[in-house]
Amino acid sequence: MHDRDILISGASIAGPAVAYWLRRHGFNPTVVERAPAPRAGGQAIDLRGAARAVADRMGILDQVRQAHVGTRGISYVDAANRRLASMPADLLGDSGGAIAELEILRGDLVDILYRATRDDVEYVFEDAIADIAEDDAGVKVAFQRGQPRTFDLVVGADGVHSGVRALAFGEESAFVRHLGAYVSSFSTANHLELDGWELLHSVPGRTAGIYPTRQGTRATAVFFFASPPLAYDRYDLGQQQRLLAAAFADQGWEVPRLLAAMWEAPDFYFDSVSQVHLDRWSRGRVALVGDAAWCPSPMAGVGTSLALVGAYVLAGELAAAGGDHRAAFAGYEAELRDYVAQGQRLAKGNAAGLIPRSRPQIWMRNQLIRMLPHMPWRGLVAGGVHKAANAITLKDYRS
Ligand SMILES: Cc1cc2nc3c(=O)[nH]c(=O)nc-3n(C[C@H](O)[C@H](O)[C@H](O)COP(=O)(O)OP(=O)(O)OC[C@H]3O[C@@H](n4cnc5c(N)ncnc54)[C@H](O)[C@@H]3O)c2cc1C
Repeated sequence: MHDRDILISGASIAGPAVAYWLRRHGFNPTVVERAPAPRAGGQAIDLRGAARAVADRMGILDQVRQAHVGTRGISYVDAANRRLASMPADLLGDSGGAIAELEILRGDLVDILYRATRDDVEYVFEDAIADIAEDDAGVKVAFQRGQPRTFDLVVGADGVHSGVRALAFGEESAFVRHLGAYVSSFSTANHLELDGWELLHSVPGRTAGIYPTRQGTRATAVFFFASPPLAYDRYDLGQQQRLLAAAFADQGWEVPRLLAAMWEAPDFYFDSVSQVHLDRWSRGRVALVGDAAWCPSPMAGVGTSLALVGAYVLAGELAAAGGDHRAAFAGYEAELRDYVAQGQRLAKGNAAGLIPRSRPQIWMRNQLIRMLPHMPWRGLVAGGVHKAANAITLKDYRS
């Protein structure tokens, strides 16, 4: 087999998942991650449809189930915590329930994937690719800290602001589409003693929320706000915290208490709500996977599922092609394009519901949620998510 030595940039979801499958197919993956360790934090994420099947094939489904957050539903509340509209998790049916799927904290899934791979995959933390130079024999990689090395292939699994994409494809402004909002999350105390329910509070252009985690011993605070693109340093968390505090300064509800806790949070996360669109996910010996290639945005609710399935297909196609990257990368795109496009399309409707721009829109959103159980078309909402999450037939790649 050729093209065996493969460098993967990013140790979140897509990176360790592609490393897992490459290893299983007999390749020799190395993962380089900018952070000093796998990064904790983030919201609860759903494993939907085909992604569950991939987790099952990886043998991690039981661990995922054990870490299940167990959200019982979401309620939009007023400033005094009175429930205005509620959506139980099972409202839309388990086969396609928009919020009833297998839900796990992003950081817990990262941890499970890291533990599933760390014994037989080389991880290099606190480093990043500085330069790549490709010729017929392979890719010479310069690192920001370590010594230069040569690999057969490079995979960019380094998220929406991918460094590999910038080096191989060009500036991110050509590929990243801002969807007009920002998202933030961090873990905090469950000071409301919430029992499985997520509470959300909206004012025009802004929604804040909190839901319990870890059997109610902790909680995750979430914030979404409409905004044109903001200029800030992606590595300056203090600056991002100040931006969030300013955006929610006058909201009321539980927001002052949550923002007070934000400064001490160990896992503050802040990013734009963006999608990534590229005509091709590979160039020469470099391929992209996960958010780096096709981020559907946090509004779509399928980013992690797409990353897991994409990792499975990328590694599988490399195995099926005996390591021939040209054939493999072509097969990878052919298998995934439609599935990814369906996932990306989910973002639009969800954004309107989560961040209504006016009081009438907030009222309308709440009315729609209240009416939902009585609506004959309620299955359509679930059906759309279910269809997108299953819009791929997984091949059975053999090593
Ligand atoms: C800390 C964190 C919190 C998140 N919280 C949320 C959330 O609340 N809601 C949501 O919808 N999505 C969140 N996401 C994004 C979510 O994880 C992804 O949308 C999805 O799971 C796909 O994952 P991915 O592995 O493709 O990309 P990501 O999860 O974005 O992972 C990219 C990884 O690459 C690393 N990296 C970035 N640049 C470089 C570089 N140049 N060199 C080496 N490594 C690099 C990052 O540190 C990260 O570990 C979060 C991501 C992170 C990293």
